[in-house]
Amino acid sequence: MSIEPLDILAIAAHRDDVEQTCGGTLLKAAQQGRRTGILDLTQGEMGTRGSSADRGREAADAAKILRAQYRQALDILDGRVENTWENRLKVARVIRETRPRVVILPYWQARHPDHATASTLGYEACFLAGLAKLDLDLSVAAGDSPARVISSPEGLPPTTLRAGRPQDSRQDAGATKLLPHRPFKIIYPTLYYDVRPTFVVDITEQFEERLQALMAYKTQFSDQEAGKGIFPARDEIRSRIDAMARFYGMMGGVTYAEPFLQKEVGLVEDLTLIPVKSI
Ligand SMILES: [Zn+2]
Repeated sequence: MSIEPLDILAIAAHRDDVEQTCGGTLLKAAQQGRRTGILDLTQGEMGTRGSSADRGREAADAAKILRAQYRQALDILDGRVENTWENRLKVARVIRETRPRVVILPYWQARHPDHATASTLGYEACFLAGLAKLDLDLSVAAGDSPARVISSPEGLPPTTLRAGRPQDSRQDAGATKLLPHRPFKIIYPTLYYDVRPTFVVDITEQFEERLQALMAYKTQFSDQEAGKGIFPARDEIRSRIDAMARFYGMMGGVTYAEPFLQKEVGLVEDLTLIPVKSI
């Protein structure tokens, strides 16, 4: 299957991680005309509430709200995300199929071991995907991880590919041959961990829809008996999400924001255009 290249691919361990950590940013990018996608490494079969089939339907609903063009869940075991060669190849294959300019990976320090492992696994897969001599067509059997593409939501402007940008190795992958591809940029949402972000994305305009995307996981976030002791009530979830987004919004001088970390330094062309007030 040939997939039109994505601008941004967000990779996370579990369905609903992306909605919690960078959903507003993905929606904003889609509203700006970017092609966005989500890769969930697991299908949620270990979840206290609901089945993996429930979560699949909910993930598709959430992706529509976020206007993601692509969403797929791999078959890596829930609660047992391991950085194995086989798993790295599965992720690398998706990177070659979707050819993103930007990859969003989980922050590498985390309470949940799956999140931390997904970060390292994702980084190494990004590297592998760019190796010219690594033939993923042979390494991963065809049909092993079938892509599920969500059709473009109505009213979404078509993406304009920027000509002549650096390290742009996009090509039509074709039906059988996956050409090497390495993303230009990797960034890490830091919402799950207490670390100072290097930048925040203003999601003031996207906050409500991003919350709706999370609430699309009805089996997880509606008030119910199962898992009552470990899941907060729906009203409490809204308050927490509001408080966190406001906290990071304050850092950026806006109402709501999502925090990210990049390993590289920032590059500035014009000092007078640097955002966020100092004094
Ligand atoms: Zn998670």
